[in-house]
Amino acid sequence: MVNFLIFGPPGSGKGTQSVRLAEKFNLLHLSTGDMLRAEITAGTALGKKMSLIMSKGELVPDEVVIEMIAHKIDHSKGSAGFLFDGFPRTVAQTISLEKMLNERGMKIDQMLVLDVDHDELVKRLIARAELSGRPDDKDPAVIENRIDVYKEKTEPIINYCNEKGLYQPVKGMGTIDDIFKRLNDYMKKLV
Ligand code: ADP
Repeated sequence: MVNFLIFGPPGSGKGTQSVRLAEKFNLLHLSTGDMLRAEITAGTALGKKMSLIMSKGELVPDEVVIEMIAHKIDHSKGSAGFLFDGFPRTVAQTISLEKMLNERGMKIDQMLVLDVDHDELVKRLIARAELSGRPDDKDPAVIENRIDVYKEKTEPIINYCNEKGLYQPVKGMGTIDDIFKRLNDYMKKLV
């Protein structure tokens, strides 16, 4: 099993690239954002509780996403590894993920971080709002808050992973195909 974190601020293209990379390398794509939105769409009690937090651009509690991921890891079969997208988002989530993987004889093998300019992020998210209908993409203040939350709570994971030799920055500007090729070139060395 080879396990990757795909990392970067909101709008950096993690989701788009993850779908393609998961298919190419037979990885299971695990997006906590998608899982949470599925709960909201299904109208579950958890979804109802989380939707307000998400609409403000804040992070849902660590234990909620950790439990979701643990469940997926234990109910998956047949993939060459996992591609974690939008998870972990805090150092505490990272430590939990490492523990979960270690207990199952696995580890985080690489963290790929998409670097994208701030103005480009905002532009992409506003454009995406038209198609996705995601409420957290519609409001510029919520977009800015998500980017701030990323810097404050999520970016410290880069240092944490860098110290373990897992950090790989990737240029996230250019066409979707260009970025896919760059990510692909790093990943194929490990899969
Ligand atoms: P984006 O990368 O565009 O912000 P996501 O789909 O990854 O989109 O996440 C949408 C929202 O879901 C986040 O703003 C946050 O409220 C919540 N969320 C997703 N993943 C996590 C996580 N690992 N920890 C806490 N909150 C999360």
